[in-house]
Amino acid sequence: MYISKSFIPILKNNPSEAKIKSHQLMLRVGMIKQSSAGIYSWLPLGFKVMKKIENIVREEQNRIGVQEILMPTIQSSEIWKESGRYEDYGEEMLRIKDRQDREMLYGPTNEELVTDIFRSSIKSYKSLPQLLYHIQWKFRDEIRPRFGIMRCREFYMKDAYSFDISDEEALFSYNKFFLSYLKTFKRLDLVAIPMAADTGPIGGNLSHEFIILAETGESKIFTDKRIFDLNTDDAKLEKKSLEEMRKKYENYYAVTDEKFNKEEFEKKVSEENRLITKGIEVGHIFYFGDKYSKSMGASVDLPGGKKDFVKMGSYGVGVSRLVGAIIEAKYDEKNEVMKWPISIAPYDISIIPMINKNDNSALDKANNIYLELKKNKIDAIIDDTDENFSSKIKKMNLIGAPYQIIIGKQTEGDLLEFKEVGEESQKLKLNEIIKLLTEQKVKN
Ligand code: ATP
Ligand code: MG
Repeated sequence: MYISKSFIPILKNNPSEAKIKSHQLMLRVGMIKQSSAGIYSWLPLGFKVMKKIENIVREEQNRIGVQEILMPTIQSSEIWKESGRYEDYGEEMLRIKDRQDREMLYGPTNEELVTDIFRSSIKSYKSLPQLLYHIQWKFRDEIRPRFGIMRCREFYMKDAYSFDISDEEALFSYNKFFLSYLKTFKRLDLVAIPMAADTGPIGGNLSHEFIILAETGESKIFTDKRIFDLNTDDAKLEKKSLEEMRKKYENYYAVTDEKFNKEEFEKKVSEENRLITKGIEVGHIFYFGDKYSKSMGASVDLPGGKKDFVKMGSYGVGVSRLVGAIIEAKYDEKNEVMKWPISIAPYDISIIPMINKNDNSALDKANNIYLELKKNKIDAIIDDTDENFSSKIKKMNLIGAPYQIIIGKQTEGDLLEFKEVGEESQKLKLNEIIKLLTEQKVKN
């Protein structure tokens, strides 16, 4: 991409309406534009990052055997009346009437709709488990939308649903998602801690929130620091192994303020391991048994000829919120430097030529490098404008490609000034740079 032709509307200064760094940066580099309270358009830079996050989320869902579907954003009120949530959901639900005067709504979540899809086709235990997900816009009429896309009204979510024959099988499904979430967030270069959570309006009895640490987070968290040393390396997609993995995490105290109990915290966690801080909820999983299947009549034939209601769980990831959460975790606000993890960076590398009047040689060189990178499937952004060098660097530091090639005084022949953002620059040949980036991309 050439900066001169791009749609990346950069602001000179931080917008005053933004209170947290992700919101500031996203407006500053034109990743999003507010269209009304809590509703945003996604501009090229923001959209690109969100799509990359979406893809990682998708790959990790597919890996545990969840099947992708796409349900609509607009739902009929009928199914919500069946489950009893039409009244319960309250003012957060955006209710709409169509021209026939039928009550419709913009889906805030999809338990009812997916249960309706399930019950119309699946009749036997032999077809279980069924694991389904979609990635779709949701609408919740939040009372106080704030922090940009972190708490907005229209947002993009991956939501998955599991249907099983028994509690035991349902917990196996639950644990698959537990593992899948830890792997997903790790690929996004985030450390997310699973925390025992309240189940809220979704209901049920087992639930974990996945929280990343951030001072600007809305959840107060209380945890045992040792939980950060855990990993999922030896977990296999088998019942016993997954159960052990979840137990390993649950061994350490980790809750949000909703579930906090001072006495228990102080008893279970020694003083030097206590951590009280704030975090952002990026995912949430629930097991709620037959809450919806019973009220909506979703049952299957059992081996002996009897019927029973299926046991369900639901599993959400805030795909659009993750864009902001990653900025909260990675943006160095003081120095105004963003470094996206390569797996989701809007561009792999930026090319910054120092262009002198009446001399196109730096730009020509930059252009050739750009084309060569492109041939090797490396997505570069090149600043071909005639702005001064320091504002070019400033701009690229905000856009946040993790690597830079600077073409200026230091460039001698084949050796290019190459820099990983935040590190010292080094002299490398173009083919060495291509090799390094290709390796990084494969790894992620
Ligand atoms: P919160 O506690 O933050 O209000 P929630 O518990 O209501 O979220 P869930 O129903 O668990 O949300 O939704 C799954 C995920 O969707 C959340 O973990 C979060 O990442 C994301 N999400 C929920 N509400 C919003 C919102 N208003 N704006 C952006 N993302 C959201
Ligand atoms: Mg939640």
